[in-house]
Amino acid sequence: MSPELNAALSLCRNLPSPPGIAIRIIELAQDPETDIATAADAIAMDMALSARMLRIANSPLYASRRRIENLGQALTMLGLNATLQLALGFSLANAVGKDGLDPRLLERIWRRSVLCALAARFLGLGSGVRRVEELMLAGLLQDVGSLALMQASPDTYPALFDNATSNEELLLHERAILGCSHADAGAQLCEQWHLPRYLVQAIANSEPPAEPEDLFQRCIALSGCVAEIWLAADADAARSHALQRAYRELGMDSQGFELVLQRVSQMLPELCALLDVPVPSSARLRFLLDHAEELKELRNLRELQDASATRRRADDFELMARRLAEQAHLDALTGVLNRRHLETVLEQEFARAAHMNRPLSIAFIDLDDFKKINDAHGHLAGDRVLQSFASHLQEQLRTSDTVARFGGEEFVVLFPDTNERIALEVVRRVLDTIAQTPMAEIEGAPLHVTFSAGVATHGDYERFANVQDLLRAADDVLYRSKSLGRNRVIARAPEPQPASG
Ligand code: GH3
Ligand code: MG
Ligand code: MG
Repeated sequence: MSPELNAALSLCRNLPSPPGIAIRIIELAQDPETDIATAADAIAMDMALSARMLRIANSPLYASRRRIENLGQALTMLGLNATLQLALGFSLANAVGKDGLDPRLLERIWRRSVLCALAARFLGLGSGVRRVEELMLAGLLQDVGSLALMQASPDTYPALFDNATSNEELLLHERAILGCSHADAGAQLCEQWHLPRYLVQAIANSEPPAEPEDLFQRCIALSGCVAEIWLAADADAARSHALQRAYRELGMDSQGFELVLQRVSQMLPELCALLDVPVPSSARLRFLLDHAEELKELRNLRELQDASATRRRADDFELMARRLAEQAHLDALTGVLNRRHLETVLEQEFARAAHMNRPLSIAFIDLDDFKKINDAHGHLAGDRVLQSFASHLQEQLRTSDTVARFGGEEFVVLFPDTNERIALEVVRRVLDTIAQTPMAEIEGAPLHVTFSAGVATHGDYERFANVQDLLRAADDVLYRSKSLGRNRVIARAPEPQPASG
């Protein structure tokens, strides 16, 4: 690290310092005499922290059979070590960098951190590292160096961070301009805070050229790569890059890797809620919408004064607005494709299937008895169910599949290059999972939904004249599955009946 930055980091008065409760927990973690009762007393002093501990103990991460009612039960169930690691993560995540930093950048850092925490946990579990809470904490704090650098170099770092289009580019610029990486800064900060040695080292070795020394550190280093699958512009490229590294560095095969991604997806909304971080997809949209507003203001400014700096900023925002145009294809409530853009994609995929002579399957999905949910719990609860349903649906499909909201509680999924049998299997698997997963919590009680769906395929045993006919066919089958009693997925081809007699 450059001597200037080193000095800046250790002298900067703005450097985030851990809140009292975190300091107390760090002390407890280092004291061999600490027991559950002492930890409970310390945590009970902080109401927000207590609430989070209770909530995580009841979350699917610790799927316990009985409901945990109070802090004492929660800590006993979690055990001392898990309690201290989790409490440390929550108290730091909630306090660091709240003052004076650009909220948009802060949100970006924490969103990545939450993804890293989950990725680290499940990469570790998938490769035999059992220290799950330590993995989560190291994953969560992995990028804390970016916060430190924002405060230590407020004139340089935020812009540098904001302009980097990938983690590689960020590292390159950090080294060139500051002489150290966010991993170096994070390790240094954690050392100053007297955080445990394993954390300092895992963070220090999380980015090249430093190299992880053991399996634990390799999981941390890889977690950032996995996070990029949710964050990078090209999700497919990020996915294959992470998959290759997981294979090379952890010996994890593609099946194990898929499981990691599934588990991260499942837990993401929960952990985001716990740490007050918006869930990635909807946040992405909002971030861009915010900038559309700024763009409008900047345009007005530009007409008034033709200062070149303003023009440059406006150009930057124009680029973002173009990205916004891409994003405008999304349904505002659920973040999946909207109906209008679905039409375009349908035409494209239909033409492509014909051209390549490959099958194209469509599933028309309609939630069952949705009106009753609205009637019983209100429209807002209904909205939440739709959001949660859409994100679970999307999470369970391949990135090459397209999910769109057709309207109301109706969704359409496109499966390119997929025959009817496979599409049917996939949608049935989705129905099984959805039916078992609560889509919302109403006054503490889980709310479950089912759906009915119809599948139709072009270019398998049947060819349609145009994509509208294909869509209508899927809708007809959906209607049939409703009249057969709902909560089922059927295909256009009648399934062979078991021979009678
Ligand atoms: P079925 O099993 O036959 O599909 O019954 P259903 O109640 O799901 O179907 P129906 O078409 O009778 O009702 C759909 C309901 O979905 C009615 C409408 O108010 C509600 N709905 C449509 N769009 C939204 C929305 O954006 N938010 C909420 N909360 N509800 C919506
Ligand atoms: Mg309907
Ligand atoms: Mg319905």
